[in-house]
Amino acid sequence: MHHGKLLSILRSVFNCPTAPFHEYHVRDHLLSLLEEFPHVSVEEDDFGNLIARYQRGSGKARWAFGAHMDHPAWVKNPTGKTCIRASSDRLGHPVGGNKRSKKNLHDGGVDPRFPDMRFLGGVPASYLPTGKVVHFGEFAMWDLPAFEYDRDNDLVYGRVCDDLVGCVAIVALFSELERLEVPGSCYGIFTRAEEVGFVGAVHLAKSGRLPEDLCFISLETSSPRGTVEMGKGPVVRVGDRLSVFDDEATAQLLAAAEIGGVEVQRALLDGGACEATAMNLFGVTATGISVLLGNYHNCAPSGRIDSEYVVLKDVKAMIALIVSLIEQGNQRGGMKGRKAARACLEKRLKDYGPYVRATARQFEGG
Ligand SMILES: [Zn+2]
Repeated sequence: MHHGKLLSILRSVFNCPTAPFHEYHVRDHLLSLLEEFPHVSVEEDDFGNLIARYQRGSGKARWAFGAHMDHPAWVKNPTGKTCIRASSDRLGHPVGGNKRSKKNLHDGGVDPRFPDMRFLGGVPASYLPTGKVVHFGEFAMWDLPAFEYDRDNDLVYGRVCDDLVGCVAIVALFSELERLEVPGSCYGIFTRAEEVGFVGAVHLAKSGRLPEDLCFISLETSSPRGTVEMGKGPVVRVGDRLSVFDDEATAQLLAAAEIGGVEVQRALLDGGACEATAMNLFGVTATGISVLLGNYHNCAPSGRIDSEYVVLKDVKAMIALIVSLIEQGNQRGGMKGRKAARACLEKRLKDYGPYVRATARQFEGG
């Protein structure tokens, strides 16, 4: 996608304030962007998740790309309860390497500055008093610049990269499919309330709205783990902290990257969990791709709240990867993935036949 165009979409989406359950600003803006695409139709389920579908020609959709519209933030407390519930459940998002606080608040952080609000999302309690906040009616966010681009280092900074980057990637995918007049079909799904335990995604998975043989691909931003590095391409995830993803779908993504000439990395990113796990648990085949993220959930190594950031080149590569996947004909049969790998192993079996025969005598009667 054209550099300037991508930056302008990023800027406009990043400018939307958001919080768990308060995704309406993002939703409204996404709807206005999606309106421009003649082959994209949009439905909203009764929970408020957006289900967009690209359809050019009669092809059947095999892939659904999903991103969430919320981000950890302060929201008005609708329950009136003031107790803090420090989450020890398995769905909280721990911050990698941070030993400062074991309390990874998931629901219920309170601050004497705003007694009628609660902090929703996985952020260690020690960070909460360190950030200034700005109010947007019923919710409040960290008072950070919505969007900045550091051209020299190709870095995009935002008060929310997770997961507006994923939302932008889906818009960019549709834009590219329109521009390239790609035949076929795919879905783009924008969910609500991921940060409190995939609430929107679970609702959607349980609703039975998604076609049965659809594969869900979570587009996320994640902390680097293991050997993967920012700037070396998006990560095709083999799993997250809670589950392993669909082997065939993951192989298809890696094959699409190879055919499309897109630099990707492959890893288990188990610093957090994503909607692919939720979809898998509720019967939808799923895998995921992540752009590596700095200052995950605004938690800087300094112990203070700061902007999240990503390398723009990685975002571009994520878009190129999903465009390549759809361009390759919406196939999800392992033709380029698992079948190719099996053919390679079959060949090896054949190639080493002479060695097997040469040692057959020593194994006789054994
Ligand atoms: Zn996320």
